[in-house]
Amino acid sequence: MKQFDCLYEAAKSAATLSARWRFATSDEQYDTVSLLSIAETSDAENPTDEDSYYVVSPGGAIGFCENGEEIDWLFLPDSGTAEPLPGTVEAAPQIKYCPKCGSGIIPGAHFCGKCGARLC
Ligand SMILES: [Zn+2]
Repeated sequence: MKQFDCLYEAAKSAATLSARWRFATSDEQYDTVSLLSIAETSDAENPTDEDSYYVVSPGGAIGFCENGEEIDWLFLPDSGTAEPLPGTVEAAPQIKYCPKCGSGIIPGAHFCGKCGARLC
């Protein structure tokens, strides 16, 4: 998941993924222009400290994470389908195994460290 130091940058990234959002705790709706506008205001009034950051999900949801704790999802893409959103940035490590030799592989690795098989 992408991380951003300010809401405006997160909103710009989310705007490439969705065109409409609703606020997580109300029915308020936002389009790209109003989202960027509210993000700019929020950054000016409530700048994040160095331990906090915003995250953007692959579906365009925007969350706020303080001190590496649980993500507070703020804006949800109004796509009609509910995207499962993680509660924390650090997802449980996925244990994978090489399909060829069966040894454990590092998450995100492109090749098996043992036999060199290409992983996808
Ligand atoms: Zn292997």
